Amino acid sequence: MKRIIYVFLALLPFSYLFAQNIQNNPGSNHGNKFEQLGTILPTPNEYRTASGAPGPKYWQQRADYNIKCELDEKNMRLTGSETITYFNNSPDILRYLWFQLDENEHSSVNNANYQTSSTIPRQATAQMLTNLEKQRTDNGFGFNILKVADATGKALPYVINKTMMRVDLPQELKPGQKFVININWNYNIPDRMVQGGRGGSEFFPEDGNHLFTIAQWYPRLCVYSDFQGWQNHQFTGRGEFALTFGNFKVQMTVPADHIVASTGECQNYALNLTPTQLSRWQKAQTAKEPVEIVTLADAKAAETKKSTAKKTWIYTANNVRDFAWTSSRKYAWDAMPTYVEGKKIMAMSYYPKEAYGLYRPFSTRAVAHTIQVYSKFSIPYPYPVAISVEAANGMEYPMICFNYGRTHEDGTYTEATKYGMIGVIIHEVGHNFFPMIINSDERQWTWFDEGLNTFVQYLTE
Ligand SMILES: [Zn+2]
Repeated sequence: MKRIIYVFLALLPFSYLFAQNIQNNPGSNHGNKFEQLGTILPTPNEYRTASGAPGPKYWQQRADYNIKCELDEKNMRLTGSETITYFNNSPDILRYLWFQLDENEHSSVNNANYQTSSTIPRQATAQMLTNLEKQRTDNGFGFNILKVADATGKALPYVINKTMMRVDLPQELKPGQKFVININWNYNIPDRMVQGGRGGSEFFPEDGNHLFTIAQWYPRLCVYSDFQGWQNHQFTGRGEFALTFGNFKVQMTVPADHIVASTGECQNYALNLTPTQLSRWQKAQTAKEPVEIVTLADAKAAETKKSTAKKTWIYTANNVRDFAWTSSRKYAWDAMPTYVEGKKIMAMSYYPKEAYGLYRPFSTRAVAHTIQVYSKFSIPYPYPVAISVEAANGMEYPMICFNYGRTHEDGTYTEATKYGMIGVIIHEVGHNFFPMIINSDERQWTWFDEGLNTFVQYLTE
């Protein structure tokens, strides 16, 4: 996330103070600044070697997701059902599972904005007090958990604690065993531009359409690790996340004239694109520069017609730690291939007409360049697609990220907007490497992935 950098810089003086407190050598006159790390680093063990490589008994848990959901644009509601297969690869017996309910960040009763309401200024306006009052009643946002059941449909006991949910297992889950769990849920989609947060909608009053960014949106398995057990820290809206890797199949039912982009690869373009768009997609597979699959004219036509029919887009993604998607009838879409070690990766961009003048010439090229440079300086990009979406923000997920960069109404733009946009695209696509592939725990240690990512971002720029 781009904004995190400024938070990080703001916190630097405090982290300096904490660093002073490492009592590695309490008698020193230099605040331990020049100490060798040896006595601070954890002791190597059979899971994690001294070199940093996995040890002979290294393990990770796995969670596979099969999700069906429907976006109700009229009522601004997302309804979903998911079947999760959880594999206990640990040597431990598990009696319960922890889930992240990040969407509860928008709930006044399940989150209460406790992360931003720690101070009241000496002089408060009436509006400030009214906003505090709102937190006493249910604003109607956040998860409605409708069903938590095992594979046979038998209800499982669970408890929700703000943005976390613990589900008790009917019997011990032994090492090497798997457990299937079904969760049904829905939530009201917040206006991201008013209520803030990671997922939600943006409304465009001029044409009456929404742009949906659906992120941190389904109950997600927390990480269970050898060094920490369950990582069940609350989501404060500012920290990010750590998740369990697995394979995803996600079916998204949306208005028929919407274009859906997501983590992974679409399995049914033939059903959801027009024959002309499908032939453009095929042409893009070998293109040397970005090819428009949904043109500006297509997007403008969809904006005015507003279909009431529905279509289902099916996407699959393997070996990812999360899944995010976007849906709107406002999107133009372009794509071109880029190659890493002979393997094809489709670099793609989705953007509304408000961003067309900047995204059409620069976005997909910036995505392809980012994949090339990061693959050179870190590890080869392992996924089949890399996507940049213009959604007036800056946040990353596996294979897909949301960025900013809109033109003036006449299509012109400032150099500052152009370079800011290219910078945020490189930054958010770069997060594919840190932390989406190199799975650092950014809920606890955000500086870790932001630092590595920003370093390679500047090399790429
Ligand atoms: Zn970032």
